[in-house]
Amino acid sequence: MRESFLHYLWRWRRFDAQNLTTTEGKSVEILHPGEWNTDAGPDFFNARLRLGDTTWAGNVEMHLLASEWQMHGHSGDPAYDNVVLHVVLEEDQPVVRANGERIPCLELKGRIPAKVLETYERLEHERAWIPCQSFFRGIPDIIRLNWLDRLLVERLEQKTAAIAAMLDATGNHWEEAFYRSLARSFGLKVNAEPFEALARSLPLLTLARHKNDPKQVEALLFGQAGMLEETFRDAYSNELAREYKFLRHKYGLTPLTPGQWKFLRLRPAGFPTVRLAQFAALVHQSAHLFSKILEAQNLRELENLFDVQPGDYWLTHFQFDKPSVNRKKSPGRDFVHLLIINTIAPYLFHYGKSKNLEIYQTRALRLLEELPPEANSIVTGWAELGIPPRNAYQTQALIHLKTRYCDTKRCLECAIGNTVLKQ
Ligand code: SF4
Repeated sequence: MRESFLHYLWRWRRFDAQNLTTTEGKSVEILHPGEWNTDAGPDFFNARLRLGDTTWAGNVEMHLLASEWQMHGHSGDPAYDNVVLHVVLEEDQPVVRANGERIPCLELKGRIPAKVLETYERLEHERAWIPCQSFFRGIPDIIRLNWLDRLLVERLEQKTAAIAAMLDATGNHWEEAFYRSLARSFGLKVNAEPFEALARSLPLLTLARHKNDPKQVEALLFGQAGMLEETFRDAYSNELAREYKFLRHKYGLTPLTPGQWKFLRLRPAGFPTVRLAQFAALVHQSAHLFSKILEAQNLRELENLFDVQPGDYWLTHFQFDKPSVNRKKSPGRDFVHLLIINTIAPYLFHYGKSKNLEIYQTRALRLLEELPPEANSIVTGWAELGIPPRNAYQTQALIHLKTRYCDTKRCLECAIGNTVLKQ
């Protein structure tokens, strides 16, 4: 059993609370269990309890064994001075404060309903794809759907922590921060780091000065990526290299080391060279991109914004100096949808929240509802359990549920887990 199970029992009062007494025989009445604290310090703040004839307001600390109070070093820690009740599974030894006064202790041993304990143990030891797999089909739709709504918001809020850090790093410059985050998204998982490093090394302001000249934009991006350091056979690549040499000197730029870019196991259409060419086309065609994103009213308008075509050279190349069949290299629709899921919707959400403009938060959620469901092994897993997601709103929530709750067995904090434990 984990201590978190005691937190669950206390928080939701899922134990036999009839005739409670401390281990010294004083009656205990729980007027309010307190607020659950997941940070450092006592487990519940501001509980209200009646011990004997006295009403106490203070904190509650929980352990499986009372001796853990000592083991965890709470004795000399002032953060625990205001603990009014020590709730334990078993009091294996009395616990006293620094002044020698005994801390009132409540034992839960013998008060946990057998069914709750049995279900908890099953969830703890289950080895299936998700711990509640055998209960899952019995969960009412309304509980599942409400929980997915909350999870989606939680996921967006977690993503906005990275956006807040990006805004911090750019002096609260929304366009610059968005440019860096978007660059990161262009790299997908494999090239996210070099893409972001590239954007950090090349301010949007510098790029914007050359936005009307697509060749200079490409020269700046490919040059900063460290991809124009060699001598090429074809004229266009050498021209970009010459252009970059001049601009590098002008702006005092230092390029990335080219070894950071990964091509291995990527389809040619996903090579970082192709993504950089698309990114360059986007910079060339859309000044003040974040403002345009704020203006876009729906998915179609956003898709149009990203419907860019890299320069002619890229029609017949996936890499410098290596001619290929003639094929358009616009970002595909699936790729644009990923950009919306990973960057645009979180930015809209965070912008709405920080400016107190709910319209953008609603727009972020609506965009995810408009997008088709993502296809990956997690989504397939949920579909096999009888939940084929209808849109990206649901796939994002389900991915969050699987990776942030099921995989770490946070069933006691999950609405579905709570329902299972009540059955
Ligand atoms: S976290 Fe929730 S959905 Fe996941 S296994 Fe536990 S109870 Fe089920």
